Amino acid sequence: RLVGSEAGADHVPAEVNTEKVSIARIYDFALGGKDNFAVDRAAAAAMTEVVPEAMLLAKANRHFLRQAVRYLVGEAGIRQIVDIGSGLPTAGNVHEIAQEVAPETRVVYVDNDPIVLAHGRALLASNDRTAFLKADLREPEAIFGHPDTERLIDQSEPFAVLLGGILMHLEDEEDPEGVAAGIRDRLPSGGFLLVSNTCDNGEPRAMELSQVFADSGMGTRCFRTWDEQIRYFDGLELVDPGLVPHNEWRVGPDMPEPNSPAHAMHIGGVGRKP
Ligand code: SAM
Repeated sequence: RLVGSEAGADHVPAEVNTEKVSIARIYDFALGGKDNFAVDRAAAAAMTEVVPEAMLLAKANRHFLRQAVRYLVGEAGIRQIVDIGSGLPTAGNVHEIAQEVAPETRVVYVDNDPIVLAHGRALLASNDRTAFLKADLREPEAIFGHPDTERLIDQSEPFAVLLGGILMHLEDEEDPEGVAAGIRDRLPSGGFLLVSNTCDNGEPRAMELSQVFADSGMGTRCFRTWDEQIRYFDGLELVDPGLVPHNEWRVGPDMPEPNSPAHAMHIGGVGRKP
């Protein structure tokens, strides 16, 4: 299995800005990857200074994503997945988890960060059931109308859209609720939407961490409340146990520090279109 990227941080594509923080690279660092630069590590250090468990939140989110993909493919029978804001390749990529359960599963990865595209293509070059697009969540037509998406995903049949740790990076004026609604509208009956984000759970530390996210240029509204986030699932049936901290959602044996109270600062859920 490939961990991190084959290209490595020494082969940096020209369009990658190594002076500016990248969400994908900070997240890669938090997961223990090597596709990150000093500027990303400095931002991560600022986060752990206010909340020592900040990196645990990323690991827990990734655990949730893996468990949810196992549920979608293994229990719900999903064979088509669009993973928007996929992040850099890491241990347990969505297509690896999904195709381990059902090899015929097709996966389209989408991210707007050029470093993800460069490393994603290197990882996936040999797999004809997966594609990697550089596109933006705010321009859904570029995603769902893309020839690779149309080739791999039959949008008249149930498919799942994963929005793991991405809506949080949209500002209020970019209308994350409207973006989620647009995706729900595209799902056929029996389709699924996964959402996970950092959460303002009322703890002062959440607001302190939110400020560090904002100062790093990751967005000023990363920590929305549960009440705000449950609206992303309007009209969907929530899969048990609902929109909850990751240490409460079908936890597997590899969940790091399952009893840490910090988990309340990152929540996720999966909804099914009736
Ligand atoms: N989905 C993965 C997960 O949950 O483990 C990775 C989450 S990572 C925190 C968020 C990713 O979303 C980053 O790779 C970032 O580049 C990407 N991203 C942020 N805003 C985006 C946008 N508007 N369109 C596409 N990708 C975006």
